[in-house]
Amino acid sequence: MATEYVPPLRDDLIGLSAYGAPQIDVPVRLNVNENPFPLPDVVVEAITNAVRSSAVELNRYPDREAVALRKCLVAYLAEESRVQIGVDQVWPANGSNEVMQHLFQAFGGPGRSVGTFEPTYSMYAEYARTTCTDYRPVQRAWDFTLDLQRNLPLLHQTRPAIVVVTSPNNPTGTTAPIDQVGVLAEQARSWSGIVVVDEAYIEFRRLGMPSALELMTSHPNLVVTRTLSKAFGLAGARIGYAVADPTVVDALRLVRLPYHLSAVSQAVAAAALLHRAELGAQVDILRQERDLLHDWLVTNDWQVIPSDANFLTFGVFVDRDAAWQGLLNEGVLVRATGPAGYLRVSIGTPEENARFRSALQRLDRAGHRSVLPPARGHGDTTSSD
Ligand SMILES: *Cc1c(COP(=O)(O)O)cnc(C)c1O
Repeated sequence: MATEYVPPLRDDLIGLSAYGAPQIDVPVRLNVNENPFPLPDVVVEAITNAVRSSAVELNRYPDREAVALRKCLVAYLAEESRVQIGVDQVWPANGSNEVMQHLFQAFGGPGRSVGTFEPTYSMYAEYARTTCTDYRPVQRAWDFTLDLQRNLPLLHQTRPAIVVVTSPNNPTGTTAPIDQVGVLAEQARSWSGIVVVDEAYIEFRRLGMPSALELMTSHPNLVVTRTLSKAFGLAGARIGYAVADPTVVDALRLVRLPYHLSAVSQAVAAAALLHRAELGAQVDILRQERDLLHDWLVTNDWQVIPSDANFLTFGVFVDRDAAWQGLLNEGVLVRATGPAGYLRVSIGTPEENARFRSALQRLDRAGHRSVLPPARGHGDTTSSD
């Protein structure tokens, strides 16, 4: 029943609409950078057993410190990035989104600002808004690198309490060179800022690309966030984590909800991490498929941004919204995001990628491709999950 009720919403939230990519039920969904493969049977089995064991004790509150899970994360990082970190340096939460919100709650807030390098993930502006932190983005260079030469002086003026570097970036797939992250962390320290490197896609990086984790020991104000939503194929389970100095982790304890991570989530994450070998095989296929699709797009004369993530951003379309709809009519859902005239496609299974390629070819024949030179400006800078 409709009511006339107007809830007493915060003034700064009035008139806003909720964030989210359209969830449309079509055969080929390549719009939110999920791992397209279902979990392998052995992993499903392991998760089921872990949940069953945890169910016995669901009358109790979970381990507030999630020690077992944090130990699994430490072991995983030692293997994946060859870094030795302590259990007291890991902070797990409900998706890296919640980790990021904790960081904004603890280090942002009224009178403080956050800096990002746009175009980038649109959620940062939302965390800023809900935590009453001033959002002060700077612009990436034409090739989507950080452009520190231009941007460092700007950051020195704004002195953001938090600088977020997304690497690989969403929606461009661009990795930030590790020496630049180091410079940024060092500079931010001069104004007491922290630098958060969002490595949601790091497992998909090309060979030889480093992780900012390698800088952890030399920069205590550096925080790296990661997630099990992408490479681990656990978007539905909502588990992410930060790696940071123990003092930073302590600060996050001040803003978390009591028992923020359920016993079920902890059990699911730990079971998946123990089966990282099986899941890693999927990541290898996706990295290969990404490189194949990149080459196919180049061969077919599309503009495509080199990517270290599980998606590619390509164009240029006369009207990207019309192109998005055209692909959807073919049963392929992508994301209308990135520079003006570009679309972003998540890497699917080999079959899904084949369907995407033929749908794009039909669209091309229908005249959607722009004959203009590639756009180098920053159009819609929004992105997605
Ligand atoms: C997908 C994505 C995440 C993941 O968020 P979760 O809450 O862990 O699912 C984080 N950062 C970026 C840039 C992303 O694209």
